[in-house]
Amino acid sequence: MPRPEAPSPKTDRKRRLKRWTLGSYRLGVILAALACLRALPRDEVSLDPAVVLEMSREAIPGAVSAGDPADGLFPLLDGDSQTVGWATSTYPQAAKIQGYSGSSELLMVFGADRKVKAVRFLASADTDGHVKKVRDDEPFWRQWDGKAEAELGAPGSPIVVSGATLTSEAMARGVAARFGAEGMDEWFPDALKLADVAKQFPGADRISESDVSGIHQVWEKEELLGTVLRSSRMGISARGYNGTSDVIVCLSPDGEKVLGIGFLGSRDNEPYVSDVRDEVKFADGFAGKSVATVLAEDTRASPSLFTSGASYTNHAVVESVREMLRRHLAEEEGTGFPWKASLAFAWIGIGVFVGVNKVGNKSAVRLGYAAISVAAGLTLGWMVSQDQLVGWGMNGFGWRGILPLLALTAAALVIPAFTGKNVYCNRICPHGAAQTLAGRSGEKRFHLPPKLHAALTRLPWLTLLAIWALAFLASGIPFAYFEPFETWSSGFVAFIPAAILTVGLVAAFFLPQAYCHYGCPTGALLKFLTASPTAWTRRDTIAALLIVAALSRVLL
Ligand code: SF4
Repeated sequence: MPRPEAPSPKTDRKRRLKRWTLGSYRLGVILAALACLRALPRDEVSLDPAVVLEMSREAIPGAVSAGDPADGLFPLLDGDSQTVGWATSTYPQAAKIQGYSGSSELLMVFGADRKVKAVRFLASADTDGHVKKVRDDEPFWRQWDGKAEAELGAPGSPIVVSGATLTSEAMARGVAARFGAEGMDEWFPDALKLADVAKQFPGADRISESDVSGIHQVWEKEELLGTVLRSSRMGISARGYNGTSDVIVCLSPDGEKVLGIGFLGSRDNEPYVSDVRDEVKFADGFAGKSVATVLAEDTRASPSLFTSGASYTNHAVVESVREMLRRHLAEEEGTGFPWKASLAFAWIGIGVFVGVNKVGNKSAVRLGYAAISVAAGLTLGWMVSQDQLVGWGMNGFGWRGILPLLALTAAALVIPAFTGKNVYCNRICPHGAAQTLAGRSGEKRFHLPPKLHAALTRLPWLTLLAIWALAFLASGIPFAYFEPFETWSSGFVAFIPAAILTVGLVAAFFLPQAYCHYGCPTGALLKFLTASPTAWTRRDTIAALLIVAALSRVLL
């Protein structure tokens, strides 16, 4: 059989040019989507005037139409186009205020004198049972009646609904935020007090804040007694059953020994919170241990830290403590080139090398590097995910401390766009590597019937579309719940990512790369960059249309 002719240098150049052009376009689509997310007007009014009118008419019977909104306030007009009232949503200010699992949007209806006539429920991403409880509670909805608009920005002590405290409090905070109250999305607003650290530092007379958020120094007559780390100020949010806990860790002056921990508050459920608070108070299992020991030991196995029946809440506390210590240690390691970052860059660099060179296809290299990736995932916890990308798009990001993650993301997005090689999925991703290793150790490997396989491979694309659509709709849904990656860094704390991780890994023993093929939206995004590298596909057209839709959402 004659050997196929090698492509001429001219053809080769043409193909390369096509690949680069398409790669640039596809990468541009992703960057444009991120830019659109960033540019989304935060104070836009998405309410339909017809809905506003319908929901306001019971309180303002004379209203026959809703006019154009100014500053988010819809004028309610009578038959002579005279203003007989006003209505406004608590969004977008309330969108960041989470109840048990999401934010809620209310409609505030005012009379012509700008005093509250009624407050109505519009929508909620919170848990159904809690929302229903609040919706059925009349005193909750009537607490604002007759109040002037100017009074609403003072949060005070709102009436909350027993059994749905977080949902109702989040709604009330949303009302206050809509009318100017600051910090309503901060659930633990109180500053650290001497009383909070009296057990560990009985003689303390002063607490000072360091330059790094969440790290405090405790003093007695200008002598440093120790350091206190506070989870809510360090942005650490290990969740229990339904909410985060505000935990402190007290360290010796040299920062090497844990003097004890404290429990300032929690948004988790009773009675678990009380159980853990008592346990922390009377049997602080961390006290006296070195920081290195706490970080090294398997705290799940420590009976002194676990209260029967409250393991999620307790685990949240334990994980918060460990994460605080990890971050503090990273800070302490100074501004040089910390070992963690060095390891991360080495891991990424080797991954890129074996991903673009033929040597990476050798079974021993492939499996050896897969084991390294799994170890990197477990120790570093850095992965490219939709939660991370959408978060960067919405909120931007700081460079400090995330350079390895930036390098990882750049390697995942840029290399495939220009080489056609998906180095992240094929080599680097720890979750993909874990599936590769699981597949190798399984006795028997199955393949789905072609039709079922074809149908299921659509799931990652649909999930990807759903995530980005929800992001553009500012849904407030935690996108980490769509993927398993959070579990690699935070452990089995949040149920949904942990369940996706477990099911995906178990399936990988029988179905090769099961989660990659049938579940992963990040994998779909990276496939978009590499599939048909020299030919325009239907996906490119759909992507262009979606960017137009995103742009119109930004501009209109
Ligand atoms: S498809 Fe998802 S899980 Fe699989 S390797 Fe790619 S990013 Fe990782």
